[in-house]
Amino acid sequence: MATRIYILRFPKETSSEPIIYQLVKQYDVEFNILKADILPQREGVMILELKGTKDKVSSGLSYLKSFGVKAERLAAAINRDDEKCFQCGACTGICPVGALYIQRPGMEVIFDPDKCTGCSLCVPVCPVRAMEVSPVTEALAEAAEKKIVT
Ligand code: SF4
Ligand code: SF4
Repeated sequence: MATRIYILRFPKETSSEPIIYQLVKQYDVEFNILKADILPQREGVMILELKGTKDKVSSGLSYLKSFGVKAERLAAAINRDDEKCFQCGACTGICPVGALYIQRPGMEVIFDPDKCTGCSLCVPVCPVRAMEVSPVTEALAEAAEKKIVT
């Protein structure tokens, strides 16, 4: 099972379609809507956490794309600046999915982007700001934040 977070952008023609309902029903994935701004006849933005096997999540994303929905995985936006990171380990305690962990016996702090869900919890705890959100997705997330009714 994998848990991943996506920013979904829905074309305005799809705003009245029960796409997420069908996604869950047909592809057997669990979902958690973190933010959503879907209004009739407007492009919609949703930040969605999807949980399921990789095959099912992948099929579900293909299903979304068939409606013209653009999906961007948030995890791809989190990077570590290895030149800034001084291996203090502060981020390893906060990561909910073990994408940041200490490898023994060398005690090296490893960042595994494949496990990362893009939650950003590690960003503010790093004393040297080595964990970064890429500018493109940060801009998208900010745009979504501004438009979204919580
Ligand atoms: S953003 Fe940071 S805390 Fe969140 S899953 Fe990725 S590595 Fe872990
Ligand atoms: S908190 Fe920052 S400096 Fe410390 S191990 Fe994590 S990324 Fe590196």
